[in-house]
Amino acid sequence: MGRLQKILIPFLGLVLAFWFYSARENFKPEMLKGKRVIVTGASTGIGEQMAYHLARMGSHILITARTEAKLQKVVERCLELGAASARYVSGTMEDMAFAEHVVKEAETLLGGLDMLILNHVGASYFGYFNGDVGHVRKLLEINFLSYVAMTVSALPMLKKSEGSIVVVSSMAGKVGFPFTVPYSATKFALDGFFSSLRQEFSMQSINVSITLCILGFIDTESAVRAAAHLLLPPPAPRAECALEILKGAALRRRELYYRYGATRLPLLLRDWAAELLDYLVRSRYRPDRLKRN
Ligand code: NDP
Repeated sequence: MGRLQKILIPFLGLVLAFWFYSARENFKPEMLKGKRVIVTGASTGIGEQMAYHLARMGSHILITARTEAKLQKVVERCLELGAASARYVSGTMEDMAFAEHVVKEAETLLGGLDMLILNHVGASYFGYFNGDVGHVRKLLEINFLSYVAMTVSALPMLKKSEGSIVVVSSMAGKVGFPFTVPYSATKFALDGFFSSLRQEFSMQSINVSITLCILGFIDTESAVRAAAHLLLPPPAPRAECALEILKGAALRRRELYYRYGATRLPLLLRDWAAELLDYLVRSRYRPDRLKRN
């Protein structure tokens, strides 16, 4: 009987936990219909796919990146797919004035903002840390500071709409990853800033949700080009990833993990078996292939 209890009670706990988390899942595309959304880094990759999903759901979309020709095509496609409206602003997130300008454009063109999706990422190298401090600074500006600048500018509109901030991060922003030292640093910075900000919002009863997205390896062109030959697991599809991010955002989740099995589950080891997790992370790489990079 004692042994039965030892097995039965944890099992029932697991069933209840599963039921609780499944029951919470209740996304409907109408949740994003008519919403005014900024998506950064939307000329390609996951950002582009998010723009297409939002278009199908009937959102007003303002996208941004540096390459105007690609943005034009994404906007055209969004309109074909049914976006309530679709526009772009091109420029670089190295420039904080540009980051703030994008938010001002939302105010002018859309009359407010419901969701700010921070997704862009500056180019970096894939290899052992080369000691280039200037590169770390530049990447922090693009991947971190511009996220902060846009958030600060957008906050009055988001408070008014009781809207959402979506921060696209990575497993490399939760646990040390080899070969992406500057990139990882910028992603850890995002966790520190936005998780602390969420606490303050809660203490001040500010109803603006912050969803931090922890992604594993995704099949975007840039990621596959940089890492596919070095990483053992295959990448997950970017369109599905983009949809999961939007679902998590619409449901005002605190954190979103995609794919769950490749991100959330290994992270459970972080506090109790950090060295084992480090080992597991390292074992996913083929460093012998680095020289080809
Ligand atoms: P991509 O490289 O495919 O796209 C990056 C986007 O950012 C592009 O639209 C690019 O457009 C834009 N961008 C790059 N530099 C700048 C700049 N200086 N100023 C403004 N925009 C810029 O990235 P992914 O889609 O792969 O990644 C999207 C997000 O997901 C990132 O935050 C990334 O860290 C995260 N992620 C991705 C993973 C993956 O395996 N793909 C894994 C984990 C996290 P343009 O060049 O025209 O400016």
